[in-house]
Amino acid sequence: MIYVTNFFKNKHNLRLIIGALCAANAIATFTPSVGAHEPVYHPYDIEHAMTSDITLDEIKNMIYSSDKLTEEEKALLYNEALFEDILPYVNQSEQMKFMYRAKFDNLDVKNIGPIMYNIIPYAGWYPGALSSNLYVKNYDINDEKSVDTLSHEYMHATQNLNCYPFFYEAAAEMYAHEYFGGEVDSYRPTIKMLEVLMEIIGSEPIKQYIYTGDFSMIEERVKPNLSDDEYATFMECISEELGPHSAERNEKLISVYQSLYFNIYGTYMRNDQIISHILSNDSTLNRAYFNDRLESYYISNSKAGSEYHYLEPISEKENIFTVEHQL
Ligand SMILES: [Zn+2]
Repeated sequence: MIYVTNFFKNKHNLRLIIGALCAANAIATFTPSVGAHEPVYHPYDIEHAMTSDITLDEIKNMIYSSDKLTEEEKALLYNEALFEDILPYVNQSEQMKFMYRAKFDNLDVKNIGPIMYNIIPYAGWYPGALSSNLYVKNYDINDEKSVDTLSHEYMHATQNLNCYPFFYEAAAEMYAHEYFGGEVDSYRPTIKMLEVLMEIIGSEPIKQYIYTGDFSMIEERVKPNLSDDEYATFMECISEELGPHSAERNEKLISVYQSLYFNIYGTYMRNDQIISHILSNDSTLNRAYFNDRLESYYISNSKAGSEYHYLEPISEKENIFTVEHQL
């Protein structure tokens, strides 16, 4: 019994099991053009779902056709800027195209009430695989915190969850912030490490990985610029389960990043003002990594200030605290 309890407490085991159940269900119902008495498996539909590109209109139609969502939820979830930016990646992957078509026309937001909270003790949860269900504790679309949690979980529904959690958890929070305006309040230590990595190798390899599952662009930019041992440490750190040891992991990662930075740019990472601000938790820095429509800026009292002509003072950001964990 202890074994079972611990097994289910592990978020990835739980995600795997429920994800598998949802996948079985989604495949069984994924037969849009056949009658109720036809065989559930229809090779043409599966092949079509894997190969033809997904358009913005198709995503819009899928979301708006769900009879489980309110009009308000449909308007929130069909975030055109987001899909404009991620579909070019999603369309590179047959697996992703299939998954989107299996889950997006049946989206549902479910409340984690007091009883369900005993089983799913999180602020928010997405089961993974082909699930169309987004879970939010004490869900209320008019409550800002609920919408923040919903947008984080929704980002998981758009991602390739075979990626390492280091990337998909940090990215879910960052995408939710950049496209839905949510507060960045979970996974701060990991986000910081992902931000520094993107300051060094850019955000393109990360977008590619999260939305197709293809790691090669990250490898191409990191591996040739590190020793074998350093690259092994890098892989060990990013493939680690997210948990209480992030300080230790971050220390190792910083050391690897210092070599990576020096080997790429020929100067020391400690002299990079943007990275210094990220590492010192300077909340006057606001950088957008995924949504090009947003401006990156410092507030007027920033130490880095006007040295970066593309950064201009706009408003003061609130301090960021870690709040209740969301998966
Ligand atoms: Zn999450």
